[in-house]
Amino acid sequence: MRVNAYAAPAAGQPLVPTTIERRDVGSHDVLIEIQYAGICHSDIHTVNGDWGPQPFPVVPGHEIVGIVAEVGADVTRHQVGDRVGVGCLVNSCGDCTNCQGGDEQYCAKGMVPTYAGVDRDGTTTQGGYSTHVVVDADYVLSVPQSLDPAAAAPLLCAGITTYAPLRRWGAGPGKKVAIVGLGGLGHMAVKIAHALGAEVTVLSQSLKKQEDGLRLGADAYHATSDPTTFEQLAGRFDLIINTVSAGIDLNAYLGLLAVDGTLVNVGAPAEPLSLNVMSLIGGRRNFAGSMIGGIALTQEMLDFCAVHGIGSEVEVVPADRVNQAYERVLASDVRYRFVVDTTTLN
Ligand code: NAP
Ligand code: ZN
Repeated sequence: MRVNAYAAPAAGQPLVPTTIERRDVGSHDVLIEIQYAGICHSDIHTVNGDWGPQPFPVVPGHEIVGIVAEVGADVTRHQVGDRVGVGCLVNSCGDCTNCQGGDEQYCAKGMVPTYAGVDRDGTTTQGGYSTHVVVDADYVLSVPQSLDPAAAAPLLCAGITTYAPLRRWGAGPGKKVAIVGLGGLGHMAVKIAHALGAEVTVLSQSLKKQEDGLRLGADAYHATSDPTTFEQLAGRFDLIINTVSAGIDLNAYLGLLAVDGTLVNVGAPAEPLSLNVMSLIGGRRNFAGSMIGGIALTQEMLDFCAVHGIGSEVEVVPADRVNQAYERVLASDVRYRFVVDTTTLN
C-alpha cells in the first residue's frame, strides 16, 4: 500500500512531501488510519543527525493516534473503528528478560523503533507523519474515548517518558519533585506529577511561562537564569526530572537534591554532559536515565490520563507547516506540543 507522508530526505534538510510503502496487513497486524502525530524533539534530533547517521529518507513521528481500518485474522485486542495509538516502539523480541518483565523498550535484542529502525522483515520503519501505518497488534495501545485525540497523541511519547520515572521514583504525596524545562515532555511531567499528588516545581530558563506552569499544576516556578535559584533551592528535591534537549550544568542541578534524592535525565542532547562525582558523593545522591516505557505501562498511563482528564496542550498544524514547527521547537517557542493533523496529507 502506497501512502502519503512527510520525510526528511537527508540530515538537516527540511522535510518534504513524499510517498512510502506500507506492508500488507499480516495475521497479527493492525492497519491504522492516522489522525494526529505529535512532533517530539527526538524527531528533530534524529533528522538533524544529532544522534548519528540515519537511514534517510526518514518519516518521523512516534506519537500516533488514529482509527483501526483493518485487522489481521489473529488479532483479538483491537477492532475496526477503535481509537488507538502507537508510541516509540513497534516490535521487540518478546522473549528476553526485559521484554518478559514489561520493559520492551530495553529488549536485549534491540527494540524496533517506530521510525529509522530495522523492522523484523528487514525493511526500514517509517513513522507517523503519514496517512496510514501497519503495526503488530501487541504494540498498539487503546486510546480512551474521553481523551481528545489530538491532545492524546503526545501521551504516546512525552506522556510515557515522564510517567515512567515519576512512577518508578515514587512521585506522590509528600514528595518534592522538580521538572527542568517546560516543553513537550516538561509540561506533561508537571501535569502527571501534580495528578500523582507530588509538590511540583518548574525550573525553566526564564519566568516567561510561569503563569502557564502554575495553571498546569506546578506549585512553584523558578528561572534557572537567576543564580539565586540554585542557592534558594539547595538540597530541596526528592526527585528531579531533566527534560532539557541541550546540555545543562548537571552539578548545579544535583545540588538541588536532598540526601538520597535522584536526578533522572530523560533529555537526550547530542553532546555528553560533565559530571563531578562529588555532586553525588556529598548527599548520597543518584543520577539515572530513563527511556520511554513498556507497552503495559503505556496503557496504564493512558488510562491514568483518562481518569484525571489529562491531555497535552497542543498546537495542531497542517503537514506543510512541519518545518516551521521544528524551528519553533528549537527556539523553545512551543506551547507545549505541536501535533500534525495528518489528514492534511490526504
Ligand atoms: P522541547 O519541547 O523542545 O522541550 C525542551 C525544553 O528544554 C524547552 O522547551 C526549554 O524549556 C528547555 N531548553 C531547551 N534548550 C535549552 C537550553 N539550551 N538550556 C536550558 N533549557 C533549554 O523537547 P521535548 O520534546 O520535550 O524533548 C526534550 C528532550 O527529551 C529531547 O532531548 C528529546 O530527544 C528527549 N526525549 C527523550 C525521551 C526518552 O525516552 N528519554 C523521549 C522523548 C524525548 P524552558 O523554555 O522551560 O527552559
Ligand atoms: Zn518522542
